[in-house]
Amino acid sequence: MAEKLQKLSVVTPQKVIYADEVRFVKVRGTAGELGILPEHAPLITSLDIGVAHIQKDNQWKKVAVHGGFMEVGGNRTIILANTAELADDIDVARAQRAKERAEERLASKSADIDLVRAEAALKRALARLEAADAK
Ligand code: ATP
Repeated sequence: MAEKLQKLSVVTPQKVIYADEVRFVKVRGTAGELGILPEHAPLITSLDIGVAHIQKDNQWKKVAVHGGFMEVGGNRTIILANTAELADDIDVARAQRAKERAEERLASKSADIDLVRAEAALKRALARLEAADAK
């Protein structure tokens, strides 16, 4: 019997990053990791900065998702993110530079540092490196 699939789309304000029928998607929700199989019960959750793992035909794809929301219902999952990148589209050197910049800022402990902003920049860079298998 053919395996059950669900529709998945990953959308940013700029473009559709990914749209296909998939077997499984795992995301980092703000309340923890969440795996969605076909026919999952409806839900809406906010997303943390992290890597989404997508399974289709025993192939896995990774997408760096920098926060946003996910809606599940009617055998369709929609990830809405301000920023997201497929692993293949990630510039590893850029993410590495962003990571180093954020780490230097955090280590400097200067009063001028916006801690929350530096921590978020570090998380984005780490998610990109993880998605690109460069961490
Ligand atoms: P940087 O300091 O390198 O700009 P950032 O985390 O501040 O990183 P964002 O503000 O999250 O960057 O993203 C701005 C735009 O640049 C988005 O369209 C995002 O997809 C893209 N982008 C950022 N970093 C990378 C990267 N390493 N590879 C590919 N695209 C990236």
